Amino acid sequence: MEERTQGILLHTRPVGEADLIVHFYTTDYGRLTLKARSAKKSKRRFAGLLESFSRHFIAFERKRAGWPVLLRLEPVEMYTDLRNDLGAFAAASYASELVLKLTEEGDVNRDIFDLLTAFVSYHTETPLSPKSLSRFKLRLLEDLGLLPNWDNCMDCGSPYNTEETFRFELGQGGILCRSCSHRYTRTTHPLHPNTRLMLIYLQNRQALHVPEPLPWGEALRLLNLRFNHLMGFPPRSRGFLYQMNPALPADSNDTT
Ligand SMILES: [Zn+2]
Repeated sequence: MEERTQGILLHTRPVGEADLIVHFYTTDYGRLTLKARSAKKSKRRFAGLLESFSRHFIAFERKRAGWPVLLRLEPVEMYTDLRNDLGAFAAASYASELVLKLTEEGDVNRDIFDLLTAFVSYHTETPLSPKSLSRFKLRLLEDLGLLPNWDNCMDCGSPYNTEETFRFELGQGGILCRSCSHRYTRTTHPLHPNTRLMLIYLQNRQALHVPEPLPWGEALRLLNLRFNHLMGFPPRSRGFLYQMNPALPADSNDTT
């Protein structure tokens, strides 16, 4: 039986002599992996539509065994401009990789579809900035149900205060008071009060009432480290992202 949905193409990889495995993030099925028969052998098989981040109406069919099979694509948006802008292309690659690696097959989450679509569309016209990247990551954490609690120590519950040195815990994504942080020797990261404040404002979509210069380097480093923990390793597209967006604050120390 034919099924239909709309999806954004996250990634393709060759399988066997002639076929491609194609990962989409869809409105109705969440992450959806399909086999595109003969798509490796012949680009014309899907009329050259299997481009990264392109958005389509998808017709597919489930099989008794193996991946469901892609039948047809009807393009909604190809984002051809992205292919002429390596900075934006790298940003979309990076965002797609996070969605691919942090979602489960069939786990439906319309907010993630909307988030990724909005991020890709936005960067066809606007260069990537530390703000747009940090916002994407916080929204993705929110959509995954993983937003940090910035107000209380995740172990003892004591409220945040600036008198004490709180740290950020990368494994669970929360904050730790000074005495509790001793129990997490390898997975904590310093948390500067202004970095914490800025991330809270970003998360709440508020104006960033933080003294200049805004701590973008530190905010990105903290988010990067948290995502590395979630994924178990740094994203493969990370090097490409920073290479193609040299204005992003350097964060060479985020690979632990
Ligand atoms: Zn505590």
